[in-house]
Formats: sequence, structure tokens, C-alpha cells
Amino acid sequence: MRKDLKFYIDGQWVDPAGGRVIEVINPATEAAAGVVALGTAEDADRAVKAARQAFGAYSRVSVKDRLALFDRIIDSYQKRMPDLSRAMTDEMGAPVWLSQQMQSVLGLVAFQNAREILARYSFSHLQGTTRIIKEPIGVCALITPWNWPVNQICVKVAPALAVGCTMVLKPSEISPFSATIFAEIMDEAGVPPGVFNLVHGDGPGVGAAMSVHPDVDVVSFTGSTRAGVEIARSAAPTVKRVLQELGGKSANIILPSADLETAVSGGVAMMMMNTGQNCNAPSRMLVPAAKMDEAKRIAKRAAEDQVPGPPDSNAKMGPVVSETQWTKIQKLIEIGIAEGATLVAGGAGRPEGLETGYYVKPTVFADVTNDMAIARDEIFGPVLTILGYDSVEQAIEIANDTPYGLAGYVQGKHEEAEAVAARLRAGQIMLNGADYDFNAPFGGYKQSGNGREWGEYAFIDFLEYKAVIGAVPVPQAAD
Ligand code: NAD
Repeated sequence: MRKDLKFYIDGQWVDPAGGRVIEVINPATEAAAGVVALGTAEDADRAVKAARQAFGAYSRVSVKDRLALFDRIIDSYQKRMPDLSRAMTDEMGAPVWLSQQMQSVLGLVAFQNAREILARYSFSHLQGTTRIIKEPIGVCALITPWNWPVNQICVKVAPALAVGCTMVLKPSEISPFSATIFAEIMDEAGVPPGVFNLVHGDGPGVGAAMSVHPDVDVVSFTGSTRAGVEIARSAAPTVKRVLQELGGKSANIILPSADLETAVSGGVAMMMMNTGQNCNAPSRMLVPAAKMDEAKRIAKRAAEDQVPGPPDSNAKMGPVVSETQWTKIQKLIEIGIAEGATLVAGGAGRPEGLETGYYVKPTVFADVTNDMAIARDEIFGPVLTILGYDSVEQAIEIANDTPYGLAGYVQGKHEEAEAVAARLRAGQIMLNGADYDFNAPFGGYKQSGNGREWGEYAFIDFLEYKAVIGAVPVPQAAD
């Protein structure tokens, strides 16, 4: 049983000012994996003050010294990767292979990526006689979710730290253990006191206090659209910048020119990865109506290949994160059936032999129309919807007919796929199962948010631009 009862503020492990202690439930066993202390506005204030105090000196640390700091962080991060993986498996149920090969690795990649960009980044340039200077924005409040816990922390901390900001992290109260280990990594690497602070807590207790705090310059938030809207509201009176990485309902357009077998089975596997708990999950698969029956057969087989099981086994899928999510997903599956969609695989109830743990059957609905709740709501579980289209024009229309705009996927002949990608209103489009590009910007159009993570695009969100006009005197004409 882990006991995460302290916060990391101003370079010290400190007791909370008050507040509650809650159990962290292991979703595979439904038993407590440990406990975490939830902070209050008082803890948030103490951490923000420490970050403010540290900002002046840290913002002036040379790039050379910041690069050396990144080297030490990367070093201690690598040493603690087994601990991070174990913590994520226990707190959110990721299969061990996933937490070892992806969940923990992506955090490392975020630091390596930011270090490489910092080494060649230009913080000032001349535009005529004006000098444009990029300065760190100040104190950052970082609020993160549970689905890729350490990755989501690192994609915020790494660019903020690289450009010279100080910060307070409030991770999800559902996945606090990996965040505590991350704070230990920062401590071991010798991050100066106050530069990085960790306060555990829930949204109303700590997240809201950080969002309203007058001494916070930017809130970088990843999570639900609901919470993102609340944060933006809380942040408005102090006119702070709010970066939002929110939900999605991304389309996967399978063009008539695509190889149906590869495209459908690949789309199912991608949907089920991390038990469907990905903001950019390709959750609406669009197939030519004439190929719907064939797509159903392929999708059924592919879904049945995604056998769920305990995280410590070789199972492709673990449980979903919590009883709340399990119940929400069950309800949406029942709604899908009631709406008249064809249940191709899975369905409501627990998978056979998995009576304990929040396991969900890998589920596929076909003959879905875009007005159904299962095509509109972000289910955040292993549930795929397949919709038919009559023309590519209609497929594009359906794909864009959503309040979200995080990601898109297109399968088919390259030129056709790229032409479709140009028409999609979403922040990241992946063609034909291409490998992920960690230097590409990641973020949403529409209600999927604003701001961008990864690559040098992430730096921009943590910078202010200062224009010094007349920095170079205008040459005087000779008398
Ligand atoms: P959530 O919104 O419930 O919680 C996310 C974080 O916000 C947690 O730390 C929570 O404590 C905090 N929070 C909640 N209410 C708050 C409030 N009023 N003020 C301040 N903080 C508050 O989301 P979740 O269930 O943890 O994560 C799932 C959601 O995250 C999904 O909608 C998913 O699409 C989204 N997500 C988006 C991305 C992206 O990059 N776009 C990535 C991963 C997850």
C-alpha cells in the first residue's frame, strides 16, 4: 500500500495544510492500491508563492545550465522508469507491457525532445530595427488527467522548464502515484527549490484554486471539455492564459481506395489501445456504405482479438480506470443498442471470467448514424462506432460534424488521403497508419481545445513576446 501523504513545495516534502485522505483504487482488483492526501486552496497558494519566488532567478538561468539540468532529469527519469510503470499499472490499470513500453517511455521522449529543441532555440531576433524577445510567461499551473498520467505531466513540465518558467503541478487524484515519483525525479535531479512544485488534490479543491490564483500566469490543462470550460471561467477575472487539451470524437475515414482488411483491423486495434481511453482515439470509423457488411466481418474478428485481461498478463487490454467510467460506458452501450445501431462485437456486462475489476468487452457498433449519442459523445472506453457514407464529400461532412476537432485519420491512396486531410477541421491527421511524429504539434480545433503540445509548438504556449522598438538605431543619412 502506497501512502502519498506529502506534497513537494519549495524543494521540500511537506504536510498538507489540512484536507482529506482518499483511497486510490486499483481498477484491476477494485481494492485500494494506496492512499493520497487531497490538498486545499491553502496548499495551492503556498506552492504558487514558492513558484513565484523562484521565478526571477530561474528565468535568468543560462540555456547551458538549463540543458545540464535536463540531462540530470533525463538520467534520473531513466532510472525510475520501472517504478513509474508499476505505479501507472496500479493506479489506472494499464497492462504492464503498455506502461513499460509506452506510458513511461513517452514522458522520457518529451524531455529528450524539449532538450533537443532548447539546444537550438532562439529566444531573440531582429526584425528591422526592432528586437523581438521571447520571455518565459512566469508561474504555470499544470492540471493533468489519469489516462496517460506521466506523459501528460511531462509534455507540460518539459517545455515550461525549458523556456524558464516555474510551475505547480496538480495531477489527477485518480493517478497520483506516478506524479509523486515524478516529483522525486525532479528532486533527485536538483531542480532548484520552488521551480517545480507538486500539490495533490481534486478539481474543486486545488485545481479551481490554481485557476483563480492572481499569481498564476498560465493554466495548462488536459482533461474533459467540462472541466476545461470551468477552468477558463475561473481564470477569466485575472485574464490569465488558459491552454486546453480536451476531449475528442475523431473520425477515421476509410476511402474506397484503401485496403479494407488492413484499414478496418488497424482502426479497431488503435481504438482499443489503452482500453479506448485516448483523447485522440479513432472512435468513428467511416466506411463506404457498399462495404459495410465486409467491414463488420473484419471489425468483429479484430475486436475479438483484443482480449481483455489482468494488467500483469499479456492481455492486450486492461480494465477501464474506475467504476464511474465503467458505469458510464455500460450506459452508452445500452443507449447504442436502444438507438438501433447494430452490435457487431462485445456489448454490455463484464467479459467472461473477469467478474472483479472494471473490465469492458471490446465493443463495435455498425450501421451507426452521426446523430446517435454513441457517435456524438466521447465514450472514453473500448467502443468503436462504424458509419457508412455514399461519397467522399459526405464522409468529410460527417467527419467534421462534431463539436470536437482533436484528430483525424484517413486511409487510402496517398494523394486522395492528403486531399481529404486538407478538408478536416482537426489538429492532427494521421495518414495510413503513419508512425507518430513527436515534433508535430498536438492539440485541438473547436471544443477540443487550444494551444499545442510537443515539439517547438509547445514552447510558444509558455512564452511572452516582447518587442523592443528602436533596439538598433536607424542609420542617419550622412550630412
Ligand atoms: P477531468 O476533466 O475530469 O480531470 C482532469 C483534471 O482536471 C484532473 O486533474 C482533475 O482533478 C481536474 N479538474 C476537474 N475539474 C476541475 C475544475 N473545475 N477546476 C480545475 N481542475 C479540475 O478529466 P479526466 O477524466 O481526468 O480525463 C479524461 C478526459 O481528458 C477526456 O475527456 C479526454 O478526452 C481528455 N484528454 C484530453 C487530452 C488531449 O490532449 N486533448 C489528452 C488526454 C485526455
